[in-house]
Amino acid sequence: MITGASSGIGEATARRLSTDGYAVVVGARRLDRLEKLASELGGTALHLDVRDSASVDAFAARIPRASVLVNNAGGAFGLEPVAELNEDHWRAMWETNVLGLGLVTRALLPALRASGQGHIVNIGSIAGIEVYKGGAGYTGVKHAVRAISQTLRLELLGEPIRITEIDPGAVETEFSVVRLGSEEAAAKVYEGFQPLVAEDIAECVAWVVSRPPHVNVDQIVVRPLAQATAQLVHRQPHD
Ligand code: NDP
Repeated sequence: MITGASSGIGEATARRLSTDGYAVVVGARRLDRLEKLASELGGTALHLDVRDSASVDAFAARIPRASVLVNNAGGAFGLEPVAELNEDHWRAMWETNVLGLGLVTRALLPALRASGQGHIVNIGSIAGIEVYKGGAGYTGVKHAVRAISQTLRLELLGEPIRITEIDPGAVETEFSVVRLGSEEAAAKVYEGFQPLVAEDIAECVAWVVSRPPHVNVDQIVVRPLAQATAQLVHRQPHD
């Protein structure tokens, strides 16, 4: 079960887990993309808007059993400082990254329990472990994802359900196009250094879910070699 599988990390994770033998169920709003992916992988595509509890519940009703839930749907909007916060941006970030992750987890927990050996993989971010100017809307929600991952570990202690958080640095996906609103602005984010690709994160997901059942990998922080912090990146000058 992978949320936000219509592009980027979610799509790469669906491909990777399918290669590893999982029957994948992919959810997102762009159903056309999902259907294409699912037919390629022999999986199931379901419409899902994680911000809408009715959509989440309808989605969960189609999944009686699931051994792995990858809470990946999310993203950032804008880079404005707190003094100029854009209410639509902040509400969208909160509802997608935090409320959405919570609603999906609540709805899918019965299916994870029914599998007898469940695993929840939350895709956080280095924005959940550091802060930067203009980033409070996004760092705030990704810090909340960390708090939820840690709380789940307390609340599900004693059950056969593992909780892992994967916190990537810069990954070249549609993330920056969504955040900044244009391909041009997004291209500048990755200029002069080699960012991670979605498959690098899919590899992390595949590794944590394939550990023996008694092993819980709590957290993986994974960045490009050229990135020390969210905003401190070593860029090669143009030729
Ligand atoms: P993309 O923009 O490529 O993918 C985001 C995915 O989330 C899309 O499939 C989108 O599908 C889905 N999504 C967004 N809103 C909703 C919604 N309301 N309901 C259901 N699905 C939704 O970006 P990434 O692959 O990079 O992002 C995946 C995750 O990784 C996010 O949580 C992001 O915060 C995190 N991350 C990304 C980093 C990066 O540098 N790229 C770094 C650290 C973390 P659709 O629009 O079809 O609904």
